[in-house]
Amino acid sequence: MAQKMQNERTLVIIKPDGIQRSLMGEIISRYERVGLKLVAMKMVLPTPERATEHYMVGGEEWLETVGEKAAAAYEKKGEKSPYKTYRDNGVAILEANAKYMSAGPVLAMIWEGSHAIPLVRKITGGTEPLGTDVGTIRGDFTLDSYQLADADNRSIRNLIHASGDPEEAKKEIAIWFDEDDIIEYRHIQEQILYDVNMDGILE
Ligand code: ADP
Ligand code: MG
Repeated sequence: MAQKMQNERTLVIIKPDGIQRSLMGEIISRYERVGLKLVAMKMVLPTPERATEHYMVGGEEWLETVGEKAAAAYEKKGEKSPYKTYRDNGVAILEANAKYMSAGPVLAMIWEGSHAIPLVRKITGGTEPLGTDVGTIRGDFTLDSYQLADADNRSIRNLIHASGDPEEAKKEIAIWFDEDDIIEYRHIQEQILYDVNMDGILE
């Protein structure tokens, strides 16, 4: 059981703003220090088509959910969404994301470990940098908001993509990596994090 759990994988992408803000090392160190293992990494210049494919792994459901979240953000600032349906808003966000993601090089990574998916989401923070917690990457290193993004009809610039659930992670990983890009290896700290006895410390 525990062995199986420690193989959970998640896709993280440092988006073009993260690269341009010189935050690669800082971001990697956040995931590294919590105990996750980096099993693949590559710098890519995404095409808008690949970015679209990436965001469409969630399908119609993602379009609806992201549109609903956007409508709630309009409501919170006392405005009404200019879109007729959640889906229309979702499509607009998808198009904006394709532009955002292909604006420059990105760093795609696969992180592995127990609870990798929720752990990375927790460390990364929520979608809106302004509204998310201090101590998270999005909360600490940038300042964008729904208000700023909506005013210019662009994506929220939040430095990072991180998979939301196991199905999303599996599909997203297949978009950015081939099976032989992924390196299976033992990390010495796994003995301390996961081994039932913590054997091997004393001579
Ligand atoms: P997350 O990246 O936190 O999982 P979503 O999957 O809901 O967020 O959305 C994907 C990306 O689309 C976000 O990271 C953000 O860059 C952009 N985005 C989401 N909602 C909005 C919005 N209402 N306005 C502008 N951009 C948005
Ligand atoms: Mg998401």
